[in-house]
Order: sequence, then C-alpha cells, then structure tokens
Amino acid sequence: MKLTPLSSLALVALASTAMPVLAHDPVQVAAAATQDHHERPEDAIFKTNPLRGGVYALYGRGGNVGFVVGPEYAIVIDSQFKDIAPGILRQVAKVTDKPVKFLVNTHHHGDHTGGNDAFKPISVIVAHENVRRRMLRAPEDLIRDMPGRIEAAKKAAQPADRIKAMEDQLAAAKAVRIEEIAAPIVTFDAAVKLHIGGETLHVIHTAPAHTDGDSFVWFEKANVLHMGDLFFNKMIPFIDTTSGGAAAGYLAALDQAIAYVPADAIVIPGHGDVTDVAGLKAFRQYIVDLLASAKAAKAAGKTKEQYLAEVDLPAYKDFSGYKDRFKTNATAAWDGLR
Ligand SMILES: [Zn+2]
Repeated sequence: MKLTPLSSLALVALASTAMPVLAHDPVQVAAAATQDHHERPEDAIFKTNPLRGGVYALYGRGGNVGFVVGPEYAIVIDSQFKDIAPGILRQVAKVTDKPVKFLVNTHHHGDHTGGNDAFKPISVIVAHENVRRRMLRAPEDLIRDMPGRIEAAKKAAQPADRIKAMEDQLAAAKAVRIEEIAAPIVTFDAAVKLHIGGETLHVIHTAPAHTDGDSFVWFEKANVLHMGDLFFNKMIPFIDTTSGGAAAGYLAALDQAIAYVPADAIVIPGHGDVTDVAGLKAFRQYIVDLLASAKAAKAAGKTKEQYLAEVDLPAYKDFSGYKDRFKTNATAAWDGLR
C-alpha cells in the first residue's frame, strides 16, 4: 500500500517513540485507531465534562483533553489521536462557535499530540521546547529502532498483521517530510501564560518526570489543573525513561504542581477520571512508596535483580496497569538511585 504523506504522518505521530500509555505498544495503538472509531458513533466515543469557569474535561480515546471557552476563542489542551481529533473539534463546537485559537501539548506522546494535524490549520500549537524536538526527531528514531523491533517480532513469531503494521510504520517514517509534522510552533523553556477573556492559563514545565517535556496547565480563575501524564489517576504511570523521564523527577513535578495550585483545585489527569488535589496526592504517595522501595532495597545491600524479583506494593494492586507497568516503574526507580 502506498501511503500518502498525510497518512504517513498519522502513523509516525502514533508511533512517535510514544509508547502510549494504556496500550503501550504503538503498533497496537495504531491498529486500535483504525478499528473502533469508524464503527462507533461519535457521541459514544466522547464525553464532555463541564468543570467550572468555562473549563471542560473531554474524554475520548487517548490522553484526556481539556479546553476553555472564552468570549473570542477557545484553547484546547492535548489532541489525542489523528483519527479522533476532528471529533474533538466537533465536541468543542457543540459548546462554542468561536475558533480554537491555541492548542497546548502537555508532552510529545502520540496519544496527546497525534491529533495535532487537525489543529494545525486553525490553531497555534504551543508546548515545551522538548516536545517539538522529540516530535521532529520521531521519524529518525523510528528508522533507527524499528528494523530491530521487526526482527525481534519475527523471531518471537508475532502475528503477521502486527509485523506488517510495524513495516508500514517504518515505510511511513521514511516517507515523511519533517516540515509536515504538526509540531508546536511556539515553544517555551520554563513557563508561558495564555490569556483568554478574564482567564489566564499558566503552562509550567516541570522536572523530567513522565518525559523531559512535561508541563501542567493551571487555569487560574477557574482553578482547574490539567496535569497531562504527570498524573495517572488510580493507575500505575508510564515513566518514559527513553524520553528523558525519571521516577525521582515525577515526585519533584508533583510537588511543584501541588505547591502551585490552591487546595481546592479541580484536577484533570492525563488518564483516568477528573478528581481533586486529594486524588493527586494519593498518586504522589504511590511515587513516594515506589522510590522508597528502591532506596530500602539498595540500603539493604540487594542487587537490582533481587529488588526487581521481590518488590511489591500491595496497596496499589488495584491501580490499573499494576501487572504490566509496576516492574518497569521499579526499574526506573532503581536506575534513578544515586
Ligand atoms: Zn504520555
């Protein structure tokens, strides 16, 4: 199949080193993206949750979207996947007939930026410098890493359609033109503010945590905090160390956000349900306990192998993803010890 540049882009965006969170494997995500969406009515995919002060959470498929509606325009936080993004715009249009003037990306992963293409013609895309850097570098990374992954998949006798999907992604990465990637065109280093009506959005870059390009967004007047993937509500997070993420940085980032907002903020996580600061602190406690487990094992003279074989945090077994991601979190915690 010959891929048009645009569909190539979609695949690259999905693949983009991303390891999207709920289905870690970009290939799986790409496959899922082509399935359910076209078979399900749009209103069955999306759920819009009005919070306060004109700020909304929007659940679809991928990282949770947030948006704010002002008198002249709207601002959207994160764009999920390419195939679903036009639907995001239609959901926003149900609330306002004003244009989406800005899109903020909380980090580069494909389940938060894959839909940027749909916003590119109408919105200024804003993110931390490393989000742009990693998005532009994604095809190069894929061309470097995918042949090895394809070989490994063949050796492991993985299903033919999975291998084919990986080969398609590689071909797409080779065909993509860098200038077509819908990367942020306004980037910042530490923080930026966006103004909309009487509302101010504080977009704050944190210590390297989920990735090295993470930001949280605080809607000052509404007092709503969008955490991106700095917060997985009642879920084991993904700590993307290959994208500069770090377990200790997660704690620093959470403390930064908690210190930044009033105690009665409404909190939108990157994944999971909208909650409050207490919900955010419960997740912080998981990170504290994770880091403590690695530190204690090292202090007891254990090797990394012993630690990983033994470590268990029963209090978090009901967090979704415990089985799949806990040991990789523990690996990140151990590797980050000094
Ligand atoms: Zn992510």
